[in-house]
Amino acid sequence: MSSARKPDWLKMRPPSGREFTDIRETLRDRNLHTVCEEANCPNRGECWSGGDGGEGGGTATFMLMGDRCSRACNFCDVQTGGMEPLDPDEPANVADAVAEIGLDYVVLTSVDRDDLSDQGAGHFAETIRQIKDRHAGILVEVLIPDFQGEKRLVRKIIDAEPDVIAHNVETVDRLQFPVRDRRAGYEQSLSVLEQVDQESDIYTKTSIMLGHGEYDHEIYQTLADCRERGVDVVTLGQYLQPSRNHLEVQRHDHPHKYETWRRVAEEELGFLYCASGPMVRSSYKAGELFVEAVLR
Ligand code: SF4
Ligand code: SF4
Repeated sequence: MSSARKPDWLKMRPPSGREFTDIRETLRDRNLHTVCEEANCPNRGECWSGGDGGEGGGTATFMLMGDRCSRACNFCDVQTGGMEPLDPDEPANVADAVAEIGLDYVVLTSVDRDDLSDQGAGHFAETIRQIKDRHAGILVEVLIPDFQGEKRLVRKIIDAEPDVIAHNVETVDRLQFPVRDRRAGYEQSLSVLEQVDQESDIYTKTSIMLGHGEYDHEIYQTLADCRERGVDVVTLGQYLQPSRNHLEVQRHDHPHKYETWRRVAEEELGFLYCASGPMVRSSYKAGELFVEAVLR
């Protein structure tokens, strides 16, 4: 049974404040896209301020390579087809914006670009390098596509030496389709994560959406599979239907349930940390949580 009505814990106030508007201006001036804005993410106030509403710091998620995707996942609001050529200045522009905003943890993600000969891996790697070259000490997390499982393309990302490489399995094995585009797949995604774990010391991370009709034993199995393939960090959050053309929400779980999954992931399965809650997204307070769990 679908449930269109949102429970109270999903109703959040829109972000505001001077810091928030300053960041928006910087992004607009440089013609950059963030997932934070494009997805109208309600966590912006928390993430952009570093979680305590204070000055500077914080996390933002930049979306590289345009706002149109070569794939069509049934949960995602990004438009399919009509991709533009890559902007060669984008890596430098992102690096400049990161400096101007004063971020100390940046997340880079992208649409899928199956239309490009290297599926955008080189552009992704170049952006990581430009940020790292200009800002000693900055932490860079990348949320990468599956690159159709091509190991040489995943290797390009590893060689650029980000601090965290994330790739989302998105949902349990049984629901990969209809949830994801048919070119994606459970085993393919696990293989990407495993390659990063085996070929580097870079932290690995994945994300699972709840609310597509998965059973508890399937969620547990997905967590266990990810851990077995070397994944260090996991996030769990509620799927929200972006429009009537997308998959309906099958279930809203209470925050208590998310807390139970957090404990299972951290205490039983041994993830370094698990961010789990209805509003949690892959990059939710990524910098703050990473520093707390890994660097302290
Ligand atoms: Fe959205 Fe990513 Fe799927 Fe493209 S590949 S439709 S950006 S979830
Ligand atoms: Fe941006 Fe991710 Fe935070 Fe949302 S959760 S505001 S997309 S960094």
